[in-house]
Amino acid sequence: METLERLDIKYLKGVGPVRSELLARELGIKSYLDLLYYFPFRYIDRSTIHRISDITGEMPYIQLRGRFITFNTQGEGARRRLHALFSDGTGTIEVVWFNRVKSIMESYQKGVDYILFGKPTEFKGHYSIAHPEIDKPSPQGQPSGLVGVYTLTEKMRNRGFTTRTFHKIIASLLAAPPVQNIGETLPASLRERLGLMPLTEALVNVHTPSGVEALQQARRRLKFEELYFLQLNILKYIKGRNAQLPGHVFSRVGDLFNGFYQNHLQFPLTGAQKRVIKEIRHHMGTGRQMNRLLQGDVGSGKTIVAFLTMLLAVDNGYQACLMAPTEILATQHYESISEMARGIGLRVELLTGSTSKRRRDTIHEGLRNGEVKILIGTHALIEDVVQFANLGLAVIDEKHRFGVAQRAKLWKKNLVPPHVLVMTATPIPRTLAMTVYGDLDVSIIDELPPGRKPVTTVLRYEDNHESVYHFIGQELRKGRQCYIVYPLIEENEKLDLLALEQGFEIVKETFPHDHVAMVHGRMKPAENDHQMDLFASGKAHILVATTVIEVGVNVPNASVMVIENAERFGLSQLHQLRGRVGRGADQSYCILMSRHELTKDTRHRLEVMTATNDGFVIAEEDMKLRGPGDMEGTMQSGTPFNLKIANLATDGMLLQTARDEAQALLEADFELATPDGQLVARQLRFLFHRQTNWGLIS
Ligand code: ADP
Ligand code: MG
Repeated sequence: METLERLDIKYLKGVGPVRSELLARELGIKSYLDLLYYFPFRYIDRSTIHRISDITGEMPYIQLRGRFITFNTQGEGARRRLHALFSDGTGTIEVVWFNRVKSIMESYQKGVDYILFGKPTEFKGHYSIAHPEIDKPSPQGQPSGLVGVYTLTEKMRNRGFTTRTFHKIIASLLAAPPVQNIGETLPASLRERLGLMPLTEALVNVHTPSGVEALQQARRRLKFEELYFLQLNILKYIKGRNAQLPGHVFSRVGDLFNGFYQNHLQFPLTGAQKRVIKEIRHHMGTGRQMNRLLQGDVGSGKTIVAFLTMLLAVDNGYQACLMAPTEILATQHYESISEMARGIGLRVELLTGSTSKRRRDTIHEGLRNGEVKILIGTHALIEDVVQFANLGLAVIDEKHRFGVAQRAKLWKKNLVPPHVLVMTATPIPRTLAMTVYGDLDVSIIDELPPGRKPVTTVLRYEDNHESVYHFIGQELRKGRQCYIVYPLIEENEKLDLLALEQGFEIVKETFPHDHVAMVHGRMKPAENDHQMDLFASGKAHILVATTVIEVGVNVPNASVMVIENAERFGLSQLHQLRGRVGRGADQSYCILMSRHELTKDTRHRLEVMTATNDGFVIAEEDMKLRGPGDMEGTMQSGTPFNLKIANLATDGMLLQTARDEAQALLEADFELATPDGQLVARQLRFLFHRQTNWGLIS
């Protein structure tokens, strides 16, 4: 690997200074190694020849065999084009070139057999192919099998750097001795156990497959390798950190937990809630500091899990805190948690920006002397003045609003860092959790409490407003409440605010007998809270809002969520917003209002919303649409890796295998000192020595 990385691509046969310059600038390919790991993004079966008469609507790249009948140039100078007619006896098709007209005309003749390779496009019932690749039929008959297609840029094509050029330099690369002698990176025992192709064979077959089966095996081997070293790197980091970081041991389940569980629980826990509590309890008993993500869809009952976890901390002589992203949410948590705590005589306090000085002093005092067992609050509770007697657990509601720095502050609140439980309703696909958030343990509540009615979601268009308002009116008359949400993004703030204000006016006119409240992020916090309270208490019937209501607000009587310009929201945001309704016993509705004209992806997004309520399905779809690199969490941590062949959205099984194997190796040989370990360690150092500081990500 090291040798191949040092070999400059310009010395490869068939490349030279001009092409190497293009490769470097356009594709970032500088060394033999770069080129070797630049894989085809697609493969074409070149053994099939299509008939022109069979060409129909949408077709991928195809091959035709026939002859040119005519060549004509059109236009002048830079706009000169070449049109040709190509016939195979079953019909004719137009072939067009927009540049290199002269050299094309010199290269090909009428009346000679050629194989054409390209993608037919239709215009007004006629088919044409632009810039096909052209070959002479080989004397041995049609080349059998699969051919790789590489991403090339427009600039490269304009300079005559085609797929064919690429194939030639790949062939000379694969024939080069340093490539043929590339060392194996995976232990033989591992390869045998999983039936993985040797590296050299995999590299040859991924570029020039000898058949479908061989290609699949080659890709599997390369994907596995990619994921395996990624997992090794992550797990090695985690294990190293765990070894350094002891955690409080919560060894017993005490009176508070048992007393509450047996006498004060308002409802039986769901199976998922029980399982998750068991996972957490087990972890906190090990002496290993916990950094756990608690995922559960909106309404899945994360609060009670958090509360029971807090009781475990208190039972073991520690304090616990819960931090929420907004004052409204902190207050809601405080209300529900202090109500639960009342029966078992536990002191719970609320600390936010608006807590009075006197109250604050009392709370600080209570925290220091250990009388306050549970503290709920906003960012206010990580300020330095807030000192705990013995903080053992911090619960954080809604991950991404808290940065790494803030969590670090939390850790300093006790000599041994507290266990951390992060609750989130934004499901992160498992594959992503295992890679980007690889150092977090994950617990998932994948079951809703019984009796919930799934929210009915429909897609409506701008010109359906009248019937939508009519529907809202019916729900209001049943005593229900309604949210109407508008987008507000910074780049478009002025126009968005205007649309919101206008919407507010229209809604007020449409519902003159109902009280309409409004909240948005540009209002004074006090006014926002007041408006919110009006809605939460049922005095206001309609709430016109921006996404400030996205997280946590709990108004069970609200049964309708209208999202204006739904096409401008991302999937996870739409799902989050929809979670504001469906919290009571009534049937709830989510109405997505959209423009008529939508791109394919946008329409798909909205259709996913109408098709499912399952947050995990939505998260997976979101990842497929946006690509894993663009997921929220990744941006915050800065993707430390760049997958070349594996795909987190589709290779979940292989990822799991890679993780299990990596785990097993580290368990048997953490120092990577055995011969197999050394082999792997060398590749690990090679891949990661200059990048990836996982320490920044936790
Ligand atoms: P979220 O996961 O969105 O934070 P909450 O913890 O707020 O969900 O729970 C939503 C509602 O469901 C609350 O009113 C809560 O009391 C109720 N709930 C939670 N668990 C159960 C259960 N096992 N059975 C019935 N109701 C439950
Ligand atoms: Mg919640």
